[in-house]
Amino acid sequence: MSGRTKFVLDEADMPTQWYNVVADLPEPPPPPLHPGTGEPVGPDDLAPLFPMALIQQEVSGERYIPIPDEVQEVYRLWRPSPLFRAHRLEKALGTPARIYYKYEGVSPVGSHKPNTAVPQAFYNAAEGVTKLTTETGAGQWGSALAFACAQFGLECEVWQVRASYDQKPYRKIMMETFGATVHPSPSDLTNSGRAVLKEHPDSTGSLGIAISEAVEMAAADPAARYALGSVLNHVLMHQTIIGEEALRQFELAGDTPDVIVGCTGGGSNFGGLAFPFLREKLAGRISPSIRAVEPAACPSLTRGTYTYDFGDTAGLTPLLKMHTLGHDFIPDPIHAGGLRYHGMSPLLSHIVSLGLVDAVAVGQNECFAAGVRFARAEGIVPAPEPTHALAECVREALRCKETGEEKVILTALCGHAHLDLPAYESYLAGDMVDRELTDEELQTAMSTIPAR
Ligand SMILES: *Cc1c(COP(=O)(O)O)cnc(C)c1O
Repeated sequence: MSGRTKFVLDEADMPTQWYNVVADLPEPPPPPLHPGTGEPVGPDDLAPLFPMALIQQEVSGERYIPIPDEVQEVYRLWRPSPLFRAHRLEKALGTPARIYYKYEGVSPVGSHKPNTAVPQAFYNAAEGVTKLTTETGAGQWGSALAFACAQFGLECEVWQVRASYDQKPYRKIMMETFGATVHPSPSDLTNSGRAVLKEHPDSTGSLGIAISEAVEMAAADPAARYALGSVLNHVLMHQTIIGEEALRQFELAGDTPDVIVGCTGGGSNFGGLAFPFLREKLAGRISPSIRAVEPAACPSLTRGTYTYDFGDTAGLTPLLKMHTLGHDFIPDPIHAGGLRYHGMSPLLSHIVSLGLVDAVAVGQNECFAAGVRFARAEGIVPAPEPTHALAECVREALRCKETGEEKVILTALCGHAHLDLPAYESYLAGDMVDRELTDEELQTAMSTIPAR
């Protein structure tokens, strides 16, 4: 074994601006529409939900946005994050490929989510907001926002998808430790929750329902705003610090990626790693393939439709043009809770529709097999979500083994599984199921997409 394994930047070399890929795209992404008028939504429509600074970032065409000093200070608790060369995984696979992973599990909650939670809390506090509401699935986003709110003295109220609330008590305890209040969703605290419970008293919830509840509560309280952990342009932009750091670390490594893969739930960790590399590709300096990996049980990019749909179940959000499975779609309770969203980032959807990024879907057994392989070689138990990216890395590395190609593969290892170990328990016990999603199931959910 030769060469370095870990590429670390000094704190002083942490990037001080986020990158906005919109500035470099051949066409701008289609705007969100007001569901009533069908017209693009304006800042005033969004003001009850978000602070003005984030609304401006959401519609910005500026290439770079400075990271406020207060946000940089909190980032320095764990950033810059390390880039690793996976020498031991390469050896275990017997591949001539060189595999690198950018590891976000070093953050306070063990994932990339605080990269956007911290600036969101900062901008809200700066505009006098005193409380943030949000939804969470497995609890990664809720714990990130709870941590960020504690940094800036904000209250935090979280609606957690019932299935995870019951099955994964540790995330709830973490959120409460950071000072948040956590409700299972659907709850009887909101009209949206009550409507679901009336029809389905035993509902195990979905991200779409939990979003409706959190949005409804924020809209009703003038001192509160809503925070979203993925999907929106400003969220993906905050995550670009991952890719900006990785670019610098690849300079240290003296290497260049040929393939970049990441898992996609709403698109934020993937966009965060990939967009700075996409900028370099669009400028003709590098030419990697860039690939999104999604669960076969929730295949918005590979089997969904690129059209206007609601971001939530109750239809309270603007209409977003995105790859969607229909806002009523409730995916199987796969273990990668963060990838169970019916839609996709409109910005990433646009980029996929332009042919700049491709997508594949993988079943969860193959993902956990890759996760176990990775853990045994590299010593990190990956969160269920990035095992999807690792499965594609393994496929790519084994293709290289056949062809003898020495490809350089880069992946986003966006979190660890320390609070998701029951997923591994289920895999190791042979209990994990891969159910084929039928075309009929997909058509049923799509029938509720608003006509335009
Ligand atoms: C939330 C989450 C995801 C999915 O969200 P993206 O916006 O697609 O990144 C993936 N991995 C982890 C570890 C998460 O916490």
